[in-house]
Amino acid sequence: MSEFRHDFRSDTLTKPTEAMRAAIAAAEVGDDVYGEDPTVLALEAEGARVFAKEAALFCTSGTQSNLIALIVHCERGDEYIAGNWAHLYRFEAGGGAVLGSIQPQPLPQKMDGTFELDDLAAAIKPDDPHYARTRLLALENTFGGQILPAGFVEAAAALARENGLALHLDGARVFNAAVGSGRTVAEVTAPFDTVSACLSKGLGAPAGSLLLGPAPLIKKARRVRKILGGGLRQAGILAAAGLYALEHNVARLADDHRNAARLAEGLRRHTNAKIEPPHTNIVFLEDTPEALADIQQRLAAHGIGSGLSYGSRLRMVTHLDVDEEAVDAAIAAVADRA
Ligand SMILES: *Cc1c(COP(=O)(O)O)cnc(C)c1O
Repeated sequence: MSEFRHDFRSDTLTKPTEAMRAAIAAAEVGDDVYGEDPTVLALEAEGARVFAKEAALFCTSGTQSNLIALIVHCERGDEYIAGNWAHLYRFEAGGGAVLGSIQPQPLPQKMDGTFELDDLAAAIKPDDPHYARTRLLALENTFGGQILPAGFVEAAAALARENGLALHLDGARVFNAAVGSGRTVAEVTAPFDTVSACLSKGLGAPAGSLLLGPAPLIKKARRVRKILGGGLRQAGILAAAGLYALEHNVARLADDHRNAARLAEGLRRHTNAKIEPPHTNIVFLEDTPEALADIQQRLAAHGIGSGLSYGSRLRMVTHLDVDEEAVDAAIAAVADRA
């Protein structure tokens, strides 16, 4: 059990609600490795419809769906390009290299998640036996809770296409990007061949991600998922939660974004930390390590969880299980009035 009364460490901490548990309990199930779980099939069909992609695959985690995407796009000895802070490059244990023999080509990435298009152009290798074959560009949206500028995505995608690269989006929090920018996930992800989207973050499901894309790639992805040990049997138990989340927990992300804005605003009043207005549900406080440790301790003393990221920033994430009252409790804790 978490020690925190209000836990802002991550939106992965959400627990299934009574209503979601009821949907799980009522799920019709079958053996999904046989293609016979009706609830998984319904989730995959609904995912494909919502993202306007041909097909979808229910994966155990975002790490797994990103890795599957790398492996279906790239052969052994190929390379993918991503920002040097991209989750799939930095925080997924090097899976593409370990299990796919795929070489990453990281680009210097800015705090807003973008990189220089000149750097992208320079990283795409010519057809020459000295080089790995550059096959794929992977972007991430949201990046640190920030919505990638649509103009950047379009320009990077166009450059990648001109050079014959495929495009993957790590959309762990792509629903936040969509709700935060007033667009649909289909619009946000239109430039990409494949998309990985987490059901277990802001959407509140206990587990699972969707990999979306063209039917032939998703067919190949199903084989890779089996290789990775991700073929689950009566997975409808989990897919029911995902379906429930898609139906009930997307529009309400706007509440999380409002709560994050309120949190940022309140913390700005009571600390000297630098706090940018959040685009979506993640608030970062920048200050000295000592000042951040002090803020984190004041929060913890009032039962409020926050996370240090690389020692240089304090991260607070809003989600289903922290409401306005929790936000106000966090602000009061930092103001030492609680
Ligand atoms: C969480 C996350 C993932 C991985 O998802 P898991 O389900 O935790 O494996 C991938 N990319 C980004 C940007 C994430 O935030």
